[in-house]
Formats: sequence, structure tokens, C-alpha cells
Amino acid sequence: MFKEYETEILAPDEAGLSRAAELIREGKCGAFPTETVYGLGANACDGEAVARIFKAKGRPQDNPLIVHVSDRAMADTVCEFTPLGEKLAEKFWPGPLTLVLPKKDTVADNVTAGLSTVGVRMPSHPVAHAFIEKCGLPIAAPSANTSGKPSPATAEHVLDDLRYRIPFVIDGGPVTIGLESTVVNATGDYPVLLRPGKVSREELAELCGQVLLPGEGDFDKPASPGMKYRHYAPQGRVHVGRNIGELEVLRLDLSMHRMRMPVLILSNATADEMMRRGARPHEIYRLGDTKEEIASNWFTALRYCDKTGFMDIITEEFDEEGLGLALNNRISRAASKE
Ligand code: AMP
Ligand code: MG
Repeated sequence: MFKEYETEILAPDEAGLSRAAELIREGKCGAFPTETVYGLGANACDGEAVARIFKAKGRPQDNPLIVHVSDRAMADTVCEFTPLGEKLAEKFWPGPLTLVLPKKDTVADNVTAGLSTVGVRMPSHPVAHAFIEKCGLPIAAPSANTSGKPSPATAEHVLDDLRYRIPFVIDGGPVTIGLESTVVNATGDYPVLLRPGKVSREELAELCGQVLLPGEGDFDKPASPGMKYRHYAPQGRVHVGRNIGELEVLRLDLSMHRMRMPVLILSNATADEMMRRGARPHEIYRLGDTKEEIASNWFTALRYCDKTGFMDIITEEFDEEGLGLALNNRISRAASKE
């Protein structure tokens, strides 16, 4: 393999952050922790630096990047705030909500894939905040994984995909949320939910009165370009059961007809029920009890399957309340064949 860089693993301290900021200001890209997943960042105003992100990830050029900022003044340098954008930022920033707003010319064109809007987010993770502040620049950053693969929840996941391809990763330990940010278009009167995440549809509706889905409402909002790809996916096939009965049929069917055993990635409650029905503990990967735990372990579970070589993965569908909508979205993207 061609080693472009000897990837530096930096501590999230003064010396580590200064080194990271130095590399970013030289026009390099590098990985850093956020509360959602690890990001691969570069100066959002430098098209050549941004191009390095696309190259390292193998990301399609038409999939726009989110610009990360450390404070509101920095946000104002990259986008125009609408009244709706103001309201959402006031309530949910810093945090896991990306606002799609009209872009300013400071942002390099390849960040937004030529769109007139830009996705902007202010992360709440203390290391992400300190890193962006040290750079003193808005940081364009997608998730720090090879394009299409499960998002990284640890610095080790980043290195599994991008070692030798990027100059540094700041190791801030495991992320807390584990699913990417909620993305809303905030250019109109109501938020349009482009990608579900930790900030739930219910919370957005409570603040704004109404939440639209792409294509809903009396105006045609652009959909989120990245959502069309098979995404967030392991190498094996993901099969989804909508209830215990379907999970049981999938398990029996796959166990009978394949040489390799399937693995069941399940919540603790569903795992217990499947074991009552004959599944063995070694066939099961337990995600946890609450939706929060399940979300934070989801991508780690998929990466475990890749490392272990499981070619068939059986998982469940959740109820859509709160984080359930975001979980089901990532599961259906992973199961998609396109
Ligand atoms: P990632 O950073 O890999 O989680 O991907 C960011 C996602 O945010 C993209 O795949 C898009 O779906 C969405 N996004 C970013 N910028 C825009 C924009 N200007 N308009 C619509 N969606 C966007
Ligand atoms: Mg991504």
C-alpha cells in the first residue's frame, strides 16, 4: 500500500491540538472527535485542502460536506442565517444539529458540491471545539471513514480505514452519540428533515410547530445529495426483521442454507427473546438496553462484523420515536443494495 503519510496520533492536549492546527493551516486534512462520530477536517475556505478529504475517503464529488464552527461569529462568515436558522441554532447549538442555509462566497465550491447552500454545525464536544478554535478557521468535515463504510466511533476505527492516508488523528476516546448529526434545511419557514439524528423530529416539531420531510409542503426543497448512496454499511449483507417472528425466520433460513453462520445484532430485550427461541449466545452481538446505548454501539457492531468476516448480519427495526427514526435510517441505508 502507498503510504502517503505516517499518521500522527495526537493527544487532545495543548501540544496535540497545536500540532493539528499547524497541519490544518498548512492545507492538510486530519481526523478529530466530535460528539456524533469522528470527522475528517480541512480548511473550508481552501478548495485544495478540501479536495484532500475527498481523495482520502474516496468520497463522490457530488456529496457535500458539513462545515464545523466553534462559535456563532465563525458561522456568520460561512452562511446567511434565516429567522428559522437563528431559532434552531439558539436552541440546539452547540450540539448534533446541522443547519442547511444559504452559503457565503468564503466557502470553497467543492465543500457544497456546487450547491448555493451549506450545511453548518457547531459541535459540543470539548476537543472538537478546542481544535476548531485553535485552527481559527471553519472546518469542512465529513465522517472520518472510507466512503460507504460504517462511521468511526473511535480513533482506532479511523486508523483502520485511513492510516497512511491522512497526516493525523486526534484521539479523544470513544464518541458519545455514535450516529451522525441531524441535518435540516432551514432556508424556509419550517425545518425540512434531510437526515434524522440525535436531535429528534419530535424536538424539532416542538420548537418549530411543524417538521417537513423532503418533497412535503408547498415548496420543493432540495433533498440531501448524500442520502442516495448505500452508506454506513459493512461488507456483509444486512437483513432486517420487523418483529420477532421475522427475525426467527431469517435466522433459521440463513443458518440452514449458508456455510457461514449469520450474526444477530440486537437490543438486549430482543436478544433475550431470541435466545428463548433457540438462538445461541455466540450468535448474538448485544447493542444495549436504551436507544442511546444502541445508537452508540451500532457502528462498532458493524465494524466488528467486518473484522470477524460475518457475511450475513440480521438486525431489527425499532419504533420511530426519538432516536429510533435515526437508527432505522442507518439500518436501512446499511441494508440497501444500491
Ligand atoms: P457526512 O459528513 O458524511 O455525515 O455527510 C454530510 C451529509 O450532509 C451529506 O451526505 C448531505 O446529505 C448533507 N448535506 C451537507 N451539506 C448539504 C447541503 N448544502 N444541502 C443538503 N444536504 C447537505
Ligand atoms: Mg459519512
